[in-house]
Amino acid sequence: MNDFEAGRPLVLRGGTVLPMDGPPDARRVLPGTDVLVAGDTIAAVGPGLEVPEGTAEIDASGGIVLPGMIDTHRHMWQTALRGYGADWTLTQYFVWFYLEYGKLFRPEDVHAGNTLAAIEALDAGVTTVVDWSHGLRTPDHADAAADALRSVPGRYVLAYGNIQQPPAEWATAPELRDFVRRRITGDGLLGFQLAFDVLGDPSFPERPAFEVARDLGVAVTTHAGVWGATGDDGIRLMYEHGFMTPGTIYVHAASLSADSYHRIAATGGSVSVSTESEQSAGQGYPPTWALRAHGIPVSLSMDTSVWWSGDLFSAMRATLGADRSREHLEAHARSETVTHAALRADQVVDWATRGGAAALGRDDLGVLAPGRKADLVLIKNDGSPVSFPLLNPFGHVVFQAQRGDVHTVLVNGRVVKHEHRLVGIDLAAARDEVERTIDYLKGEMGEEAWEKGMNPDIPTTKVLDNPYTYTDYRSDSTHRL
Ligand SMILES: [Zn+2]
Repeated sequence: MNDFEAGRPLVLRGGTVLPMDGPPDARRVLPGTDVLVAGDTIAAVGPGLEVPEGTAEIDASGGIVLPGMIDTHRHMWQTALRGYGADWTLTQYFVWFYLEYGKLFRPEDVHAGNTLAAIEALDAGVTTVVDWSHGLRTPDHADAAADALRSVPGRYVLAYGNIQQPPAEWATAPELRDFVRRRITGDGLLGFQLAFDVLGDPSFPERPAFEVARDLGVAVTTHAGVWGATGDDGIRLMYEHGFMTPGTIYVHAASLSADSYHRIAATGGSVSVSTESEQSAGQGYPPTWALRAHGIPVSLSMDTSVWWSGDLFSAMRATLGADRSREHLEAHARSETVTHAALRADQVVDWATRGGAAALGRDDLGVLAPGRKADLVLIKNDGSPVSFPLLNPFGHVVFQAQRGDVHTVLVNGRVVKHEHRLVGIDLAAARDEVERTIDYLKGEMGEEAWEKGMNPDIPTTKVLDNPYTYTDYRSDSTHRL
């Protein structure tokens, strides 16, 4: 792709730019605006920009330009099993991955999942992903995860974890420090966190893992407020031992008391909301309605492609819907009517971009302004009847756009997708890897267990007696189910 060779400046001409640079109550829409990229940085944003001779040009007219989206919690290794657990509950997920089959994953299987997840993210305009990598059973698994992330030109944070061992064991192993020394170079493209959960044991056995994070100067990300698994005790223990920090990311935070939300707000951490996950797995109601009330910063995430889509359009849509649904339900319980929606589309776009950057402590991301890193997305699909009229750009991004509308994606100034096609990505190789992983897992599990895992038993729904029922539609031949 000679047009976009490294070092050549690039301008996106005449798009509707959402810079996400203002205060929350004044998000700007800049119609007919250019964005000039030089090297890995945004050089200028404005109408009719003068650009250096030889600058490559992309016509962004009719499209929307926004910062690259940021997913703050995705178990990328699990993407090798895309869609397998569509009908799971959280309990079934825990049994499958934590207890029964997660330990079957070899380094090459982690590599396969991570590679496909990384490619998928770029395709959908997600330029930064926190890889919540809790399948790192050995240093070889960790190297495979890092190799995969380094092979796809996005921005990642490897959140290192291992569900097969207590965090106090794997986090204090010399291999972990060795991995950080070898693989985390501080280049801004591959960051590092520790990923583990705090189960509420009063003796706080997670302390050594927190101490390692503190020594390394890295953040901890933790599934918190997961119904039946992690709750207020975990938050209280973290607080009492002094391990709640501004960099801490609390994933889900969906079934917590007000006291826990107060502690999170007081210590400056943020919550990664995975609405599609919370809605169907059972961690608790997607908590943005409560987080807003407690002034807690929010970012968005997809959790795992074992169930859900890996694009943040779905996350934004689901999150806005869930928040409004809750607001209506709460009002109806008081016999009141919501006449003005509190959560707006622009806020959700903010969470998907700048909110993720803030959660990661990256003020060079999530905003389109001179001097920031050139991670950006052009949403434009001239052949689509959904591309016009473009009246409310924030509403358009949240409720109208989808991954197929992602026209161009830049990460660190590099064009990784253009005219709806990935640039320099070997999708066939990624497919081969994933196929080998699936063949292997099927072989290890056996056909019957494989099928059973994908098709959990369905509890019976008791159909209630109905005094108005006169017909039995199930026996009607035209409606036979
Ligand atoms: Zn998760």
